[in-house]
Amino acid sequence: MQHVNSKLDKAAILKAIRSCLPAEQKNVELHEPYLCGNEWNYVKECLDTNWVSSVGKFVDVFEQKLAEYTGVKRAFAVVNGTAALHISLKMAGVDEGNEVLVPDLTFVATANAVTYCGAIPHFVDCDEMTLGVDPKALSDYLSRIAEIRDGECINRETGRKIKVLVAMHTFGHPCDLEKLSDLCKKYNLILIEDAAEALGSFYKNRHVGHWGKFSILSFNGNKTITTGGGGAILTNDEKLGVRAKHIATTAKLPHPFIFFHDQIGYNYRMPNINAALGVAQLENLPRFLERKRVLAMRYKKSFQDVAGVRFVDEPGFSKSNFWLNAILLDADTAAERDGLLEYLRADGIKARPAWTLMHKLPMFQDCPRMEIPMAEAMDSRLINIPSSAFL
Ligand SMILES: *Cc1c(COP(=O)(O)O)cnc(C)c1O
Repeated sequence: MQHVNSKLDKAAILKAIRSCLPAEQKNVELHEPYLCGNEWNYVKECLDTNWVSSVGKFVDVFEQKLAEYTGVKRAFAVVNGTAALHISLKMAGVDEGNEVLVPDLTFVATANAVTYCGAIPHFVDCDEMTLGVDPKALSDYLSRIAEIRDGECINRETGRKIKVLVAMHTFGHPCDLEKLSDLCKKYNLILIEDAAEALGSFYKNRHVGHWGKFSILSFNGNKTITTGGGGAILTNDEKLGVRAKHIATTAKLPHPFIFFHDQIGYNYRMPNINAALGVAQLENLPRFLERKRVLAMRYKKSFQDVAGVRFVDEPGFSKSNFWLNAILLDADTAAERDGLLEYLRADGIKARPAWTLMHKLPMFQDCPRMEIPMAEAMDSRLINIPSSAFL
């Protein structure tokens, strides 16, 4: 029975979700790998040939295919998306005591990677439509707190340099890259795209990853394609790409037998065995994207007549990969979110809220931030629903 004070029709929401899913599947995870192609063959080839570690043909092929698919000049594969962010921030010149603008609504890796450089995340609000960084709100904010001194963007309130804006494509929906890119130019900030969730997403007919000086992808087990664990750095700057690969590969100078490293490097290269999975997964990416879009459109239709919630659709200027489908509760039903999640989970639907906002995590609570009304609202009202490509 509905509680008398309840404004949310939980049964109708469950029905709307269930009607889009295969009837025979009782427990439905949020996002699972779909290993339906040449994964077994390619991994077996690694084992049979002894090429299991960080050099091998699959690493090269995977990088080449990623660059081809996204259209960037260089892609190189690393152990995970977090490592890709770390290297990108380093390459962008982020140093001890700098500030980096980071969305408050994001996965923790975005902010963690900033701290690996000794820098300080500075949290910014999101836009209601894209769920990514709000260019207008950020522009207003920067005009109040930032100024350009000797060509560098300085936070007047802290005296620190602001070096980079990391823009993240939430749930695969592209954020407004042109506006953010213009804003970065105005304030001499380097733009990095955290496209961890957005392989297969297009902004104005072009794959995401072209607007940032560097962009990163993730191939974690829950992402659109997986390599077990893995990530990649994308860039259109050949020279910087070579440099980034160098520091991600222990900064060793090429030589048949001498080990000479010209700076502190990282051991972040993706092993061949993971890349073998990646090559097989990429072959199926178009099919995954098609299926994910079909599921998203089913959800969209299904939620049209459900009161109190709306389906989070792709922004008009974009084509999303619909990595994670989401529904948004009306503001007056936000208090019922956790009750709804428990209700759905009791039926086997592994729905969950978006991430806890970064400024609410203990290690980031004292970091600088702008006013974050939209991220706060989204935090209390967003729910992710099952989105695997095989559903
Ligand atoms: C998954 C993800 C990452 C990190 O990727 P890993 O491969 O898990 O290290 C970074 N940012 C966002 C927004 C992500 O969703």
